Amino acid sequence: HSHLTHYSDSTHHMIRLSLSGLEPLIATTESNFINVGERTNVTGSKKFLELIRNEDYEGARAIARQQVESGAQIIDVNVDEALLDGVKVMVRFLNLMASDPDISRVPVMIDSSKWEIIEAGLKCLQGKAVVNSISLKEGEDDFLAKARKIKRYGAAVVVMAFDELGQADSFERRIEICERAYKLLVTVVHFKATDIIFDPNIFPVGTGMEEHRDNAINFFRATEWIKKNLPGALVSGGVSNVSFSFRGNPHVREAMHSAFLYHGIKAGMDMGIVNPAMLEVYDEIPKNLLELVEDVLLNRRADATERLLEYAEANKSTQKKEKTEDLAWRHAPVQKRLEHALIKGITDFIEDDTREALEELKRPLHVIEGPLMAGMNVVGDLFATGKMFLPQVVKSARVMKKAVAWLEPYLQAEKDANENPELQTRQGQGTVLLATVKGDVHDIGKNIVGVVLGCNSYHVVDLGVMVPAEKILAEAISSGADVIGLSGLITPSLDEMIHVAKEMERRNMKLPLLIGGATTSRVHTAVKIDPVYSGPVVHVLDASRAVPVVGQLLSEDLATAYHRDIKQEYARLREQYANQNSAKQFVSLSDARNNAFIAEPEGKAPAPRKPGVHVMRDIDLQLLVPFIDWTPFFRSWELAGKFPEILQDNVVGTQATSLYNDAQKMLNEIISAKSIEARAVVGLFEAHRYSDDIHFSDPTHADNKGSFRTLRQQSAKAKGIPHLALADFIGHEDHIGCFAVSTGFGVDELVAQYEKDHDDYHAIMIKALADRLAEALAEYMHQLVRKELWGYASDEQLSNEELINEAYRGIRPAPGYPACPDHREKLTIWKALDVENNIGLRLTEGLAMYPTAAVSGYYFAHRDAKYFGLGKITEEQVKDYASRSGISYEEAARWLSPNMI
Ligand code: SAH
Repeated sequence: HSHLTHYSDSTHHMIRLSLSGLEPLIATTESNFINVGERTNVTGSKKFLELIRNEDYEGARAIARQQVESGAQIIDVNVDEALLDGVKVMVRFLNLMASDPDISRVPVMIDSSKWEIIEAGLKCLQGKAVVNSISLKEGEDDFLAKARKIKRYGAAVVVMAFDELGQADSFERRIEICERAYKLLVTVVHFKATDIIFDPNIFPVGTGMEEHRDNAINFFRATEWIKKNLPGALVSGGVSNVSFSFRGNPHVREAMHSAFLYHGIKAGMDMGIVNPAMLEVYDEIPKNLLELVEDVLLNRRADATERLLEYAEANKSTQKKEKTEDLAWRHAPVQKRLEHALIKGITDFIEDDTREALEELKRPLHVIEGPLMAGMNVVGDLFATGKMFLPQVVKSARVMKKAVAWLEPYLQAEKDANENPELQTRQGQGTVLLATVKGDVHDIGKNIVGVVLGCNSYHVVDLGVMVPAEKILAEAISSGADVIGLSGLITPSLDEMIHVAKEMERRNMKLPLLIGGATTSRVHTAVKIDPVYSGPVVHVLDASRAVPVVGQLLSEDLATAYHRDIKQEYARLREQYANQNSAKQFVSLSDARNNAFIAEPEGKAPAPRKPGVHVMRDIDLQLLVPFIDWTPFFRSWELAGKFPEILQDNVVGTQATSLYNDAQKMLNEIISAKSIEARAVVGLFEAHRYSDDIHFSDPTHADNKGSFRTLRQQSAKAKGIPHLALADFIGHEDHIGCFAVSTGFGVDELVAQYEKDHDDYHAIMIKALADRLAEALAEYMHQLVRKELWGYASDEQLSNEELINEAYRGIRPAPGYPACPDHREKLTIWKALDVENNIGLRLTEGLAMYPTAAVSGYYFAHRDAKYFGLGKITEEQVKDYASRSGISYEEAARWLSPNMI
């Protein structure tokens, strides 16, 4: 590493680190380990989270003061939590700490995974702070931009060993990433080496997994290497992570932390995020325990984990009682029992209890509006304040629905007997009409919003999927809706939503319009939908936002002001957007083409071993399980976090685990009953590129040929950076593949069964699982193609995590995604693979796939093929594209409108 020697001037200094609050914190090469207090971190401290959530800032400040008093030399502040407005909370808390003379003495470590929170924090801190953290996860450009800003704010920085491929988990990956980050920081950004603090990832040991055995050792080795080879840089880490699998056993955990620090400091660790209260003095750890702990940390014997577990089991300080089902609540009065059943989501006794309540209260409406609504209101409040999570709410709703279903005949009988129309409908707080727009079939998010609104006493009319504008508006009037909510997942749905809004304006309607779904955004809503409708238009990010938004829209006191505010906000967003766009520069299509990416011929994949079209039906679902990426599953239930860590998360861990267990159970049922079927079709064709078109032909069926049309980036680029189009990854006499897969066959039937049983929880679960299986099938087929059918990577060996990170050679871009936004390309894939005949997967008029649990795309195998975003393109290219594709300019513009300047 002689090439690094010129950075090493700082090693001659005695100063190891200098930071400051109101007072300086100078660490020299002689100073001791630096403790960073971790209790003011919502992800590490439940208590702190509670205080912040309840806006008890005085209590939160007291925690910070305790930290300083108990010896923390830096305070780590983290407010990353899904339900908190992180920027606001960070600013408020830092300002409060600044006014406390004891706390503001010490420097602050601003800890967040969100850059806007970090920057908001940097803006209000005096002294010299530390940012925790940045990494190469999003690539060099992002890394450098953030580092430059941090330097300008005059802060030090924690760099996580994380890059585009993921988090470093071996010694080699750790040092490779740290070295790369160091060079960039020191040579490109001119960051002071002593302001760089590496966090080379402390991972749990003693998990029972083979690949975790060296986690601590690799950290120690990486630390030693960094101190030796990256002069001046410091090493830190979050220590409590190491003992994760011994949660519930503080005695063992404390010993593990202390022993870890002992070895970490020996290796050169400078500082660490620790809970000082959770540290045992190394010398005071009982010798037998110390030996067991070090056996695990240092991977000294094969049975180390078992032995430590045995010890932990035998020495549990707080023996948790085995949970037996507690039925004490059954003795409460019936109203309380209903409330309990609702909050806990227990359906076992609901019919008996409802019957009893009806006997007591006489009228079905009184049961609904009395104890049932009271229980649901508690659920709604708990959800709104972040004390309950979405899966629980959906389970509660199931209890409610079952009760109402049981009461339905009595309600009907009363209606029949009663002429008074006022008693005929139950509208609660107001009626919300929901629909997935024409051409689109996705509805998980919409269904969840419906359930949550239902829990908050709104009457929900759900029109289902693929609903034309006509029908939405007619039903809105006939059902007396107070609000209309539109949902959609694919880009063409955006246009359909604009159409609905225009229709509402034309018909002079005044109802508020909610916009939601995966491709929708605040900016799109502001730029494209809000201007065409004079009534209120609000983009609703997720189900938890739906309730307060509808509440304000329908509140007599707030509605007018809210309408005005939201119109103003969107107008401002439009202005910003216009400024941004007009500032951007674009190049002509021919200039872009002249600056195409040149794929090297050596990177070309060999000819496929098995060219032509291959159809697979009835694929064993069990094969797909290892390919499942669980993280998005939790996201669809609005639980934030990465799998598997989310199962242990301090805030949502319990819920996530229970949801995961339910999912496993259902998955096993599906697999053993074969109640859904997985089918796939893939094709591998000869291909050659002509300008931005890819002409392909099937060597096994000469008349099967066609052309994929690709689009080229046009925004101005720095010198040397190409203007990409997918066609660039195809060379001379090359090959291309495409595929369509679905695991949706049988899903509708299962959903219908659950819905009949008023069981939204399982109805949503099955859809979410089918989506996961479809993505897993896409991953599985891609591997089969790489290793066998095409066979260009026959000796590939990747772990599940590497697969999920797509760390293999080749890509499978999907039409409708950023590199190839035109959904019409699916028509070409459908023809080439005869998808509908071969596997029964269809395209709707909006070009969504049906059944919904489906994935389709192309395969590119060139070594340098990668994903990118097309960005905005000019009218010139749209015209060219239309003529290449044999369609009118208007038709092309309709499909490409989200990408047009
Ligand atoms: N493991 C994830 C996979 C889906 S997201 C899951 O289970 O949900 C990743 C996929 O999105 C890629 O395989 C590709 O098909 C598509 N994709 C991502 N970025 C893309 C881009 N820029 N252009 C085209 N397709 C893209």
